[in-house]
Amino acid sequence: MGTISSESPTRFERLADVLALMPDVIARLLADHTSDSSGRCRGCTRPGTGYPAAVHPCTLHRLATMALIARKRTNHS
Ligand SMILES: [Zn+2]
Repeated sequence: MGTISSESPTRFERLADVLALMPDVIARLLADHTSDSSGRCRGCTRPGTGYPAAVHPCTLHRLATMALIARKRTNHS
């Protein structure tokens, strides 16, 4: 059964590694996907309504955070 951890990198982690090469995209994601006053993500709105739908931190915010960590780990500059 799938757990989100260990052994080989998950697709999520590989995506974060790719994103680590794009600091402008990381910055954009972190700027757009912030928490609103009720703990929802401002960037992940329900289509057509503009109403925040996802609980923060959302998947994209976590991905951007992982990319930042990957950047530091692999020492991109
Ligand atoms: Zn979001």
